[in-house]
Amino acid sequence: MSMKILKNISLKDFNTFGIGGPARFFASVKSIDELKEALQFAKKRRLKIFILGGGSNTVFDDKGFNGLIIRNNIKGLKFLKKGNSVLVEVGGGEDWDGFVEKTVSKNFWGLENLSLIPGTVGASPIQNIGAYGVEVSEFIIKVETINLKTLKKKTFSNKECKFSYRNSFFKTKKGKDFFIIKVFFKLKKNGVPNLKYKDVSEYFESSKKKITQKNIRQAIIKIRNRKLPDLEKFGTGGSFFKNPIISKKDFDELNGKYHGLKGYIEGNKVKISLAFIMDHICGLKGYREGNFSLYKNQPLAIVNFGKGSFEELKKFKNKIQKKVFQKTKIKIEEEVFLVDSK
Ligand code: NAP
Repeated sequence: MSMKILKNISLKDFNTFGIGGPARFFASVKSIDELKEALQFAKKRRLKIFILGGGSNTVFDDKGFNGLIIRNNIKGLKFLKKGNSVLVEVGGGEDWDGFVEKTVSKNFWGLENLSLIPGTVGASPIQNIGAYGVEVSEFIIKVETINLKTLKKKTFSNKECKFSYRNSFFKTKKGKDFFIIKVFFKLKKNGVPNLKYKDVSEYFESSKKKITQKNIRQAIIKIRNRKLPDLEKFGTGGSFFKNPIISKKDFDELNGKYHGLKGYIEGNKVKISLAFIMDHICGLKGYREGNFSLYKNQPLAIVNFGKGSFEELKKFKNKIQKKVFQKTKIKIEEEVFLVDSK
Protein backbone atom coordinates (compact mmCIF):
# COMPACT_ATOMS: atom_id res chain seq x y z
CA MET A 1 0.00 0.00 0.00
CA SER A 2 1.30 3.36 -0.93
CA MET A 3 1.82 5.99 1.71
CA LYS A 4 -0.07 9.26 1.71
CA ILE A 5 1.85 12.46 1.20
CA LEU A 6 -0.21 15.24 2.70
CA LYS A 7 -0.38 18.84 1.50
CA ASN A 8 -0.53 22.08 3.45
CA ILE A 9 -0.20 20.63 6.92
CA SER A 10 0.12 23.07 9.80
CA LEU A 11 3.45 22.55 11.56
CA LYS A 12 2.18 24.19 14.75
CA ASP A 13 0.95 20.82 15.95
CA PHE A 14 4.25 19.10 15.18
CA ASN A 15 6.57 20.98 17.53
CA THR A 16 6.27 21.43 21.27
CA PHE A 17 6.79 25.21 20.98
CA GLY A 18 3.52 25.37 19.01
CA ILE A 19 5.00 27.69 16.38
CA GLY A 20 5.02 27.43 12.60
CA GLY A 21 3.06 27.79 9.38
CA PRO A 22 2.10 25.08 6.87
CA ALA A 23 4.37 22.47 5.33
CA ARG A 24 3.91 22.31 1.57
CA PHE A 25 4.16 18.51 1.80
CA PHE A 26 4.23 16.21 4.81
CA ALA A 27 4.90 12.46 5.04
CA SER A 28 4.93 10.31 8.15
CA VAL A 29 7.01 7.24 7.29
CA LYS A 30 6.59 3.89 9.05
CA SER A 31 9.16 1.85 7.14
CA ILE A 32 12.27 2.08 5.00
CA ASP A 33 10.13 1.56 1.89
CA GLU A 34 7.90 4.48 2.82
CA LEU A 35 10.95 6.61 3.49
CA LYS A 36 12.34 5.78 0.04
CA GLU A 37 8.97 6.59 -1.51
CA ALA A 38 8.92 9.98 0.20
CA LEU A 39 12.49 10.70 -0.89
CA GLN A 40 11.71 9.84 -4.48
CA PHE A 41 8.66 12.11 -4.35
CA ALA A 42 10.90 14.96 -3.18
CA LYS A 43 13.58 14.22 -5.74
CA LYS A 44 11.13 14.27 -8.65
CA ARG A 45 9.86 17.68 -7.61
CA ARG A 46 13.24 18.99 -6.46
CA LEU A 47 11.85 19.66 -3.01
CA LYS A 48 13.89 20.54 0.00
CA ILE A 49 13.40 18.02 2.80
CA PHE A 50 13.43 18.27 6.56
CA ILE A 51 13.49 15.24 8.88
CA LEU A 52 11.31 15.54 11.94
CA GLY A 53 11.17 13.39 15.08
CA GLY A 54 9.08 14.35 18.09
CA GLY A 55 9.40 18.07 17.39
CA SER A 56 10.64 18.81 20.90
CA ASN A 57 13.85 20.44 19.73
CA THR A 58 12.58 22.15 16.59
CA VAL A 59 10.64 25.32 15.78
CA PHE A 60 9.26 26.23 12.38
CA ASP A 61 8.95 29.53 10.57
CA ASP A 62 5.50 31.17 10.59
CA LYS A 63 5.72 31.12 6.80
CA GLY A 64 5.83 27.34 7.02
CA PHE A 65 8.20 25.08 5.12
CA ASN A 66 8.36 25.17 1.34
CA GLY A 67 9.32 21.53 0.86
CA LEU A 68 8.66 18.06 2.24
CA ILE A 69 8.70 17.30 5.96
CA ILE A 70 9.45 13.63 6.62
CA ARG A 71 8.41 12.47 10.04
CA ASN A 72 10.20 9.45 11.43
CA ASN A 73 7.48 7.04 12.54
CA ILE A 74 9.48 3.80 12.28
CA LYS A 75 8.53 1.68 15.27
CA GLY A 76 9.83 -1.53 16.82
CA LEU A 77 11.49 -2.67 20.02
CA LYS A 78 13.42 -5.92 20.55
CA PHE A 79 15.33 -7.09 23.61
CA LEU A 80 18.04 -9.71 23.26
CA LYS A 81 19.59 -11.03 26.47
CA LYS A 82 23.25 -12.00 26.51
CA GLY A 83 24.81 -12.90 29.85
CA ASN A 84 24.66 -9.84 32.09
CA SER A 85 23.95 -7.51 29.21
CA VAL A 86 20.94 -6.85 27.05
CA LEU A 87 21.08 -5.75 23.45
CA VAL A 88 18.12 -3.59 22.47
CA GLU A 89 17.11 -2.78 18.93
CA VAL A 90 14.76 0.20 18.69
CA GLY A 91 13.00 1.92 15.78
CA GLY A 92 13.94 5.58 15.32
CA GLY A 93 10.32 6.71 15.56
CA GLU A 94 9.71 5.19 19.00
CA ASP A 95 9.00 7.68 21.78
CA TRP A 96 12.15 8.08 23.88
CA ASP A 97 10.55 8.06 27.29
CA GLY A 98 8.21 5.19 26.41
CA PHE A 99 11.34 3.21 25.59
CA VAL A 100 13.11 4.23 28.81
CA GLU A 101 10.04 3.25 30.82
CA LYS A 102 10.10 -0.24 29.29
CA THR A 103 13.80 -0.72 30.08
CA VAL A 104 13.15 0.27 33.69
CA SER A 105 10.11 -1.99 34.03
CA LYS A 106 12.27 -4.88 32.83
CA ASN A 107 15.08 -3.90 35.22
CA PHE A 108 17.59 -3.31 32.46
CA TRP A 109 19.96 -0.64 33.77
CA GLY A 110 21.48 2.35 32.05
CA LEU A 111 18.89 4.82 30.82
CA GLU A 112 16.96 5.57 34.03
CA ASN A 113 18.67 8.95 34.52
CA LEU A 114 17.48 9.92 31.05
CA SER A 115 13.81 9.58 32.01
CA LEU A 116 11.18 12.04 30.78
CA ILE A 117 13.27 13.57 28.01
CA PRO A 118 10.84 14.41 25.20
CA GLY A 119 11.46 13.31 21.62
CA THR A 120 12.15 10.15 19.69
CA VAL A 121 14.75 7.39 19.93
CA GLY A 122 16.04 8.33 16.48
CA ALA A 123 16.79 11.85 17.67
CA SER A 124 18.65 10.73 20.78
CA PRO A 125 22.07 10.14 19.16
CA ILE A 126 21.93 13.34 17.10
CA GLN A 127 22.49 15.67 20.02
CA ASN A 128 23.76 12.90 22.29
CA ILE A 129 21.03 13.60 24.85
CA GLY A 130 22.27 13.71 28.39
CA ALA A 131 21.03 14.44 31.86
CA TYR A 132 22.01 13.89 35.48
CA GLY A 133 25.42 12.45 34.78
CA VAL A 134 24.46 10.12 31.93
CA GLU A 135 24.88 10.51 28.18
CA VAL A 136 23.06 8.27 25.72
CA SER A 137 26.33 7.65 23.84
CA GLU A 138 27.54 5.48 26.74
CA PHE A 139 24.91 2.88 25.77
CA ILE A 140 24.75 3.12 21.99
CA ILE A 141 26.39 0.25 20.14
CA LYS A 142 25.47 1.28 16.61
CA VAL A 143 23.10 3.47 14.62
CA GLU A 144 21.45 2.23 11.44
CA THR A 145 20.68 4.86 8.82
CA ILE A 146 19.56 5.47 5.26
CA ASN A 147 21.60 7.88 3.19
CA LEU A 148 19.06 10.43 1.95
CA LYS A 149 20.98 10.98 -1.28
CA THR A 150 21.94 7.45 -2.32
CA LEU A 151 19.06 5.66 -0.46
CA LYS A 152 21.65 3.11 0.73
CA LYS A 153 21.77 1.68 4.23
CA LYS A 154 24.73 2.65 6.37
CA THR A 155 25.50 1.55 9.90
CA PHE A 156 27.59 3.77 12.17
CA SER A 157 29.54 2.23 15.03
CA ASN A 158 29.61 4.17 18.29
CA LYS A 159 33.02 5.53 17.34
CA GLU A 160 31.85 6.63 13.90
CA CYS A 161 29.05 8.65 15.52
CA LYS A 162 31.77 10.97 16.94
CA PHE A 163 29.86 11.71 20.13
CA SER A 164 30.74 14.64 22.36
CA TYR A 165 28.82 16.92 24.73
CA ARG A 166 25.34 17.36 23.14
CA ASN A 167 26.91 16.71 19.78
CA SER A 168 27.63 14.03 17.19
CA PHE A 169 28.51 13.46 13.54
CA PHE A 170 24.76 13.66 12.78
CA LYS A 171 24.78 17.37 13.63
CA THR A 172 27.44 18.14 11.02
CA LYS A 173 26.68 19.13 7.43
CA LYS A 174 27.63 15.66 6.15
CA GLY A 175 25.78 13.97 8.98
CA LYS A 176 22.52 15.65 7.93
CA ASP A 177 22.43 13.31 4.91
CA PHE A 178 21.49 10.36 7.13
CA PHE A 179 18.05 9.32 8.36
CA ILE A 180 18.21 7.25 11.55
CA ILE A 181 16.05 4.16 11.20
CA LYS A 182 17.25 2.13 14.18
CA VAL A 183 19.41 2.52 17.26
CA PHE A 184 21.06 -0.40 19.10
CA PHE A 185 21.71 -0.06 22.82
CA LYS A 186 23.60 -2.20 25.30
CA LEU A 187 22.09 -2.22 28.78
CA LYS A 188 22.90 -4.18 31.93
CA LYS A 189 20.90 -6.65 33.98
CA ASN A 190 22.81 -5.60 37.08
CA GLY A 191 23.67 -1.95 37.04
CA VAL A 192 25.10 0.61 39.41
CA PRO A 193 22.93 3.60 40.39
CA ASN A 194 24.30 6.95 39.26
CA LEU A 195 23.53 9.53 41.95
CA LYS A 196 26.42 11.88 41.35
CA TYR A 197 24.20 14.87 40.58
CA LYS A 198 23.22 16.96 43.55
CA ASP A 199 19.50 17.06 42.74
CA VAL A 200 19.38 13.27 42.58
CA SER A 201 21.44 12.50 45.69
CA GLU A 202 19.50 15.11 47.67
CA TYR A 203 16.23 13.52 46.59
CA PHE A 204 17.27 10.18 48.09
CA GLU A 205 18.71 11.78 51.23
CA SER A 206 15.55 13.72 51.99
CA SER A 207 12.95 11.18 50.88
CA LYS A 208 14.72 8.22 52.52
CA LYS A 209 13.53 6.12 49.57
CA LYS A 210 15.34 2.91 48.66
CA ILE A 211 17.78 3.35 45.79
CA THR A 212 16.18 1.13 43.17
CA GLN A 213 16.09 1.65 39.44
CA LYS A 214 12.36 2.39 39.54
CA ASN A 215 12.85 4.95 42.30
CA ILE A 216 15.64 6.63 40.33
CA ARG A 217 13.25 7.03 37.41
CA GLN A 218 10.62 8.45 39.79
CA ALA A 219 13.22 10.83 41.25
CA ILE A 220 14.23 12.12 37.82
CA ILE A 221 10.59 12.59 36.83
CA LYS A 222 9.90 14.58 40.02
CA ILE A 223 13.05 16.72 39.65
CA ARG A 224 12.36 17.47 35.99
CA ASN A 225 8.72 18.32 36.65
CA ARG A 226 9.77 20.70 39.39
CA LYS A 227 12.27 22.51 37.17
CA LEU A 228 11.10 22.29 33.61
CA PRO A 229 7.95 23.79 32.08
CA ASP A 230 4.95 21.50 31.60
CA LEU A 231 4.46 20.86 27.88
CA GLU A 232 0.69 20.77 28.45
CA LYS A 233 0.71 24.32 29.79
CA PHE A 234 3.36 26.11 27.73
CA GLY A 235 4.91 26.00 24.34
CA THR A 236 8.57 25.16 24.91
CA GLY A 237 11.52 23.22 23.58
CA GLY A 238 12.98 22.41 27.00
CA SER A 239 16.54 23.71 27.36
CA PHE A 240 16.88 26.28 24.61
CA PHE A 241 20.61 26.85 25.04
CA LYS A 242 23.55 24.53 25.68
CA ASN A 243 25.64 24.78 28.82
CA PRO A 244 28.87 26.49 27.71
CA ILE A 245 32.24 24.78 27.73
CA ILE A 246 35.01 27.34 28.16
CA SER A 247 38.78 27.40 28.65
CA LYS A 248 40.23 27.04 32.12
CA LYS A 249 41.65 30.57 31.87
CA ASP A 250 38.24 32.07 31.04
CA PHE A 251 36.66 30.07 33.83
CA ASP A 252 39.19 31.32 36.41
CA GLU A 253 38.58 34.89 35.30
CA LEU A 254 34.82 34.58 35.51
CA ASN A 255 34.97 32.73 38.80
CA GLY A 256 37.18 35.45 40.28
CA LYS A 257 34.52 37.98 39.41
CA TYR A 258 31.42 35.99 40.30
CA HIS A 259 31.66 33.63 43.22
CA GLY A 260 29.57 30.50 43.38
CA LEU A 261 29.97 29.67 39.71
CA LYS A 262 30.77 25.98 39.61
CA GLY A 263 32.96 24.48 36.93
CA TYR A 264 33.04 20.85 35.83
CA ILE A 265 36.04 19.46 33.96
CA GLU A 266 35.24 18.43 30.40
CA GLY A 267 38.42 17.22 28.69
CA ASN A 268 40.88 20.11 28.99
CA LYS A 269 38.05 22.62 29.30
CA VAL A 270 35.47 23.56 31.89
CA LYS A 271 31.71 23.13 31.61
CA ILE A 272 29.66 25.72 33.45
CA SER A 273 26.03 26.12 34.39
CA LEU A 274 24.25 28.54 32.10
CA ALA A 275 21.30 28.55 34.46
CA PHE A 276 23.59 29.99 37.17
CA ILE A 277 24.94 32.63 34.78
CA MET A 278 21.50 33.69 33.65
CA ASP A 279 20.16 33.78 37.17
CA HIS A 280 23.00 35.12 39.31
CA ILE A 281 25.18 37.00 36.83
CA CYS A 282 22.66 38.34 34.33
CA GLY A 283 19.56 38.49 36.53
CA LEU A 284 17.54 36.92 33.75
CA LYS A 285 15.60 34.20 35.54
CA GLY A 286 11.94 34.65 34.62
CA TYR A 287 12.83 37.47 32.17
CA ARG A 288 9.80 38.11 29.96
CA GLU A 289 9.14 40.10 26.84
CA GLY A 290 5.83 39.85 25.00
CA ASN A 291 4.88 36.24 24.47
CA PHE A 292 8.20 34.74 25.55
CA SER A 293 9.99 34.28 28.82
CA LEU A 294 12.88 32.41 30.36
CA TYR A 295 11.13 29.90 32.58
CA LYS A 296 10.88 30.93 36.22
CA ASN A 297 12.29 27.65 37.60
CA GLN A 298 14.89 27.02 34.91
CA PRO A 299 16.12 29.95 32.82
CA LEU A 300 17.64 27.65 30.19
CA ALA A 301 14.13 26.93 28.94
CA ILE A 302 12.23 29.50 26.89
CA VAL A 303 8.46 29.36 27.17
CA ASN A 304 5.85 30.61 24.73
CA PHE A 305 2.76 31.90 26.49
CA GLY A 306 0.61 31.00 23.53
CA LYS A 307 0.66 33.49 20.71
CA GLY A 308 4.40 33.91 20.13
CA SER A 309 5.69 33.99 16.56
CA PHE A 310 8.88 32.63 15.03
CA GLU A 311 10.27 36.11 14.43
CA GLU A 312 9.50 37.16 17.98
CA LEU A 313 11.22 34.05 19.32
CA LYS A 314 14.30 34.78 17.21
CA LYS A 315 14.44 38.36 18.51
CA PHE A 316 13.99 37.15 22.08
CA LYS A 317 16.73 34.53 21.90
CA ASN A 318 19.12 36.99 20.17
CA LYS A 319 18.54 39.43 23.00
CA ILE A 320 19.34 36.81 25.62
CA GLN A 321 22.49 35.77 23.74
CA LYS A 322 23.56 39.42 23.60
CA LYS A 323 22.89 40.04 27.29
CA VAL A 324 24.90 36.96 28.31
CA PHE A 325 27.73 38.00 25.99
CA GLN A 326 27.84 41.54 27.37
CA LYS A 327 28.26 40.25 30.92
CA THR A 328 30.47 37.22 30.36
CA LYS A 329 31.95 37.40 26.82
CA ILE A 330 30.53 33.91 26.29
CA LYS A 331 28.72 33.19 23.04
CA ILE A 332 25.95 30.85 24.08
CA GLU A 333 24.71 28.41 21.48
CA GLU A 334 21.16 27.34 20.95
CA GLU A 335 20.21 23.71 21.23
CA VAL A 336 16.77 24.09 19.65
CA PHE A 337 16.80 24.01 15.86
CA LEU A 338 15.12 26.95 14.09
CA VAL A 339 13.84 25.88 10.66
CA ASP A 340 13.50 28.64 8.08
CA SER A 341 10.72 28.44 5.52
CA LYS A 342 12.98 27.98 2.49
P1 NAP B 1 22.13 21.06 36.70
O1 NAP B 1 22.00 19.66 37.17
O2 NAP B 1 21.83 22.21 37.59
O3 NAP B 1 23.57 21.28 36.05
C1 NAP B 1 23.97 22.52 35.50
C2 NAP B 1 25.31 22.32 34.84
O4 NAP B 1 26.25 21.78 35.75
C3 NAP B 1 25.28 21.37 33.67
O5 NAP B 1 26.23 21.82 32.72
C4 NAP B 1 25.69 20.07 34.26
O6 NAP B 1 26.35 19.25 33.31
C5 NAP B 1 26.71 20.52 35.30
N1 NAP B 1 26.76 19.60 36.45
C6 NAP B 1 25.96 19.59 37.54
N2 NAP B 1 26.34 18.63 38.41
C7 NAP B 1 27.39 18.01 37.85
C8 NAP B 1 28.22 16.92 38.27
N3 NAP B 1 28.04 16.29 39.45
N4 NAP B 1 29.22 16.53 37.44
C9 NAP B 1 29.40 17.13 36.25
N5 NAP B 1 28.66 18.17 35.80
C10 NAP B 1 27.66 18.61 36.59
O7 NAP B 1 21.28 21.20 35.36
P2 NAP B 1 19.74 21.37 35.07
O8 NAP B 1 19.65 22.55 34.19
O9 NAP B 1 18.90 21.25 36.29
O10 NAP B 1 19.48 20.08 34.17
C11 NAP B 1 19.49 18.78 34.74
C12 NAP B 1 20.16 17.81 33.81
O11 NAP B 1 19.40 17.65 32.61
C13 NAP B 1 21.55 18.25 33.36
O12 NAP B 1 22.33 17.11 33.25
C14 NAP B 1 21.29 18.87 32.00
O13 NAP B 1 22.40 18.87 31.15
C15 NAP B 1 20.19 17.95 31.51
N6 NAP B 1 19.39 18.51 30.44
C16 NAP B 1 19.65 18.07 29.19
C17 NAP B 1 18.96 18.53 28.12
C18 NAP B 1 19.27 18.00 26.75
O14 NAP B 1 20.04 17.08 26.55
N7 NAP B 1 18.69 18.55 25.76
C19 NAP B 1 17.94 19.45 28.31
C20 NAP B 1 17.66 19.87 29.62
C21 NAP B 1 18.40 19.40 30.68
P3 NAP B 1 25.58 18.36 32.22
O15 NAP B 1 24.87 19.29 31.29
O16 NAP B 1 26.70 17.63 31.53
O17 NAP B 1 24.68 17.45 32.95
